[in-house]
Amino acid sequence: MSKRLLADFLVDGIGRLYTCHQPGDGEGPRRGEGLREVGLVDNGAVAAYQGEIIAVGNSDAVRRAIRVLPGAESIDAEGRAVVPGFVDAHTHAVFGKARPDEFGRRLVGESYQSIAESGGGIRASVRDFRQRSEKELLGLTRSRLKECLKSGSTTVEVKSGYGLNLESELKALRVIRALQSEPSLPRLVATCLAAHEFPDEYRERREEYVDLVCESILPEVASQKLAERVDVFCEPGVFSQDQARRVLARGQALGLSACIHADELEGGGGSALAVELGAASADHLGAISEAGIRALAGSSTVGVLLPGTIFSLGLDEFAPARAMIEAGVALAVASDFNPGSNYCSSIPLTLSIACTRMRLHPHEALVMATLNAAWSLGRAAQVGSLDVSKRCDLVVLGADSLDEMVQHMGGKVVDRVVLNGRSVS
Ligand SMILES: [Zn+2]
Repeated sequence: MSKRLLADFLVDGIGRLYTCHQPGDGEGPRRGEGLREVGLVDNGAVAAYQGEIIAVGNSDAVRRAIRVLPGAESIDAEGRAVVPGFVDAHTHAVFGKARPDEFGRRLVGESYQSIAESGGGIRASVRDFRQRSEKELLGLTRSRLKECLKSGSTTVEVKSGYGLNLESELKALRVIRALQSEPSLPRLVATCLAAHEFPDEYRERREEYVDLVCESILPEVASQKLAERVDVFCEPGVFSQDQARRVLARGQALGLSACIHADELEGGGGSALAVELGAASADHLGAISEAGIRALAGSSTVGVLLPGTIFSLGLDEFAPARAMIEAGVALAVASDFNPGSNYCSSIPLTLSIACTRMRLHPHEALVMATLNAAWSLGRAAQVGSLDVSKRCDLVVLGADSLDEMVQHMGGKVVDRVVLNGRSVS
């Protein structure tokens, strides 16, 4: 008899197991038809040892391959569906308080831009953020990340961007770093978004703020290893293409991976800039041009779509996902969880919006929120699919299929979340 692998974790009795595995994975994010390959296994099981997947597939085959150790955690999914833990590749989860007053103002006619120009929006969050202590922000962010985990996000990217000066940007990133070591929270990927907006004190001297970001904030962030990515909000009225190029190129020179808020509302050519700089991702893309789509399609940059924001803003300009898929753009989908334009961290709800408003098949949406999102964060070797040797992060759905999860909007669609081979909620 061949030697059996020792398992300290097993989930069995899975009706439909969506592994998101496909032969050939490992060479890059999925595109086109490949987005529908969810690696479906009927009557499945997943086994792990010390947090790493050691066997996955048909239940009988997994059972034959492993020996379950005494004291192991063993879950019976009772016919429910299982998917990889969601990878939320775009959040602004470190903030003080939300801005619900603006939500109502927008719904009766004010625009996001006019509220921002009158001192609301990101600038209001900055005033609030700067006066809160690091300890208070730590507690607020921890409880939000627990919510993310409860709704199935096992890896979450978190950006700074409400500090907008050296002291407060470092404060935000230290909060993320402190939470990275807590085992009951999602895996965190830290991004410096000091170029989120121009702070009030620099509104009349914008180039000087770009200097501050490039010459002071980013070098300090890199030297303290507080972030692995640099981001910028490139949009008419915020950072111009030239300013965004300076910020991202400076970050890259300091060893950070680049990503960009691009072509969100009006289109500022951010996706072309992302391709020019070899950025890991170009996010939003609601106003992307045809040239922008062609540029992304011919690149390794992942387009990260954030349909929850367009939905929450009450707008109709969803990113042209079908045209991008047809053109061959590697796409991911994420929440954009933040205190203003999208106060929603639920990936299941985001996928319901993505499918209904951008005409995605649920299979495409799943690959975009797992494997391709992991690619956009440089984490595809560790997470994003249920494959041997990856981390055992998965979601037992409160549904028999992925389609049911997507259809059952706002319902209790997550039954249990497993992080690193342990149930965490
Ligand atoms: Zn954002």
